[in-house]
Amino acid sequence: MVTTQGRIVKGVGGSYEVAADGAVYTCAAKGIFRLRGITPLIGDRVEFEITHEADQEGNVTNILERTNELKRPRVANIDQALIVFSVTRPAINIDLLDRFLILAESEGVEAVLVLNKCDLPKGDEAGELRCTYEAIGYKVVKMSAFTRDGLNELRGLIGGKVSVLAGPSGVGKSSIVNCISKRLMETGELSRKIDRGKHTTRHAELIPIDDDTFIVDSPGFTALTTDGLEPGRIAGCFREFRPYLAGCRFNDCKHLREPGCAIKAQVGDDISAERYERYKGMMGNRYS
Ligand code: GDP
Ligand code: ZN
Repeated sequence: MVTTQGRIVKGVGGSYEVAADGAVYTCAAKGIFRLRGITPLIGDRVEFEITHEADQEGNVTNILERTNELKRPRVANIDQALIVFSVTRPAINIDLLDRFLILAESEGVEAVLVLNKCDLPKGDEAGELRCTYEAIGYKVVKMSAFTRDGLNELRGLIGGKVSVLAGPSGVGKSSIVNCISKRLMETGELSRKIDRGKHTTRHAELIPIDDDTFIVDSPGFTALTTDGLEPGRIAGCFREFRPYLAGCRFNDCKHLREPGCAIKAQVGDDISAERYERYKGMMGNRYS
């Protein structure tokens, strides 16, 4: 039997939809996974045998090693998180923005900052934010789901990858998905009202954009607090801190009040005072 490689895009009651070479196969997963205590996840790259080509049926025979595994939504092998914010309506909350970035770093997921609604007045504030976050090393896209400005740039960044969208509600996540996929997602308040009761049972799906490009259909990093993060790991999640972390006098430096702190020495220089303040904010509830 021919063995093919594909990716699980959907799971329905013990069977899995596996996308491969532009087709979707409905596959069973062999009992061997249950024996080994492994559950195939959406996003898993798998090997499968085609048992019935005409009916597009198969059997998953192997799960390839995962690069990461997100808890909510439960998805494996996420290449990047698109952290979506609107500059205005709703007004941008930088504190929250940094929390999303830190959560993505802590999960080992590359973050791309997407600034939407640039068509609105005040949309040019996005330019400043772009400079700030590009300087730290993030990719930043300024766009409008309405005018479709910046959409090609976004397309370029998601090509060949699996992306999860994250960000507060109302910033245009569903609108962006509607711009780049053929599948329509409902936008606005109405859909949220209808959805509310369904969230607990609904499983995530990968929306295929093309053969090797996917978007996760439900938002990631929905736990907006960094409280669960081990305090010692937070500094390492601030990208611009990393080059200096080894320079502190104390190995277990918290970069708060310690003498000889290489991080504090950079504040106002390579580390912006605002980002350092937000670092202190995230550490604060633990050490004050
Ligand atoms: P989500 O909650 O993040 O999925 O946001 P939605 O996609 O539902 O969008 C929230 C509201 O913002 C809707 O009324 C959209 O029509 C509107 N919206 C989305 N993108 C844009 C944009 O680029 N510009 C403007 N002006 N409005 C937008
Ligand atoms: Zn330090």
